[in-house]
Amino acid sequence: MKVLVAVKRVIDFNVKIRVKSDNTGVETGNVKMSMNPFDEIAVEEGVRMREAGTADELIAVSLGPKPCQETIRTALAMGADRGILVETDTRLEPLAVAKLLKAVVDKESPDLIILGKQAIDDDNNQTGQMLAALLGWSQGTFASKLAFTDGKIDVTREVDGGLETLSLTMPSVVSVDLRLNEPRYASLPNIMKAKKKPIDVMTPDDLGVDVTPRLEIVSVEAPQGRERGVIVANAAELVERLRSEAKVI
Ligand code: AMP
Repeated sequence: MKVLVAVKRVIDFNVKIRVKSDNTGVETGNVKMSMNPFDEIAVEEGVRMREAGTADELIAVSLGPKPCQETIRTALAMGADRGILVETDTRLEPLAVAKLLKAVVDKESPDLIILGKQAIDDDNNQTGQMLAALLGWSQGTFASKLAFTDGKIDVTREVDGGLETLSLTMPSVVSVDLRLNEPRYASLPNIMKAKKKPIDVMTPDDLGVDVTPRLEIVSVEAPQGRERGVIVANAAELVERLRSEAKVI
């Protein structure tokens, strides 16, 4: 089985996000960038499939500016076989990402595409669903367990109040949730080996995809700071304050 995994370069989850002074976006200059945490889980799952012999080839794909190569290298160091960078400086919306991934799929013909359930920068949770729709493939979102049997994947999904298991006919698109696995750290020898693994670079034009944004960002603002709380002496005072100050009862 050939598996494609989508890896996005995002601001590291430990970084305190700062909004630009002109409210056009968030500061990315001199900010630590990393692989989207859900995509690390997606890569880990692909590498485990590779190790178990379920997958014969694992390809890591990233879309965005040149430094996305580093994100691909991380996936290669974790165990992916090769990488594809679709290089563009245009801000990519989920539909553009889905169209680009579809174009890569048309070239590579994988049996399975694994994505994160969402990218932690824009929190869209759209790309996997759009890609499955564009391809007309089966999809399993929020996967917390994958099991493979003759041409089918059983995807256990986290849904409100429990777990649901779907049996998907391949080819399929799967987006992964937090509890699927714990991603490994790449060892130093594997980081060195990853430098020799191939990365194909192409552009949206090469793939014939128009990535012009359809959405206009009107303004980006930091959340309001919370007001200080008060400690009340007893329940009677709490009820009185809720009635007279907060006016909620
Ligand atoms: P989103 O729909 O933006 O929340 O992203 C969901 C998933 O789509 C991510 O976890 C990635 O696996 C994939 N994805 C989104 N944008 C990109 C990108 N620029 N490059 C590679 N993968 C991406």
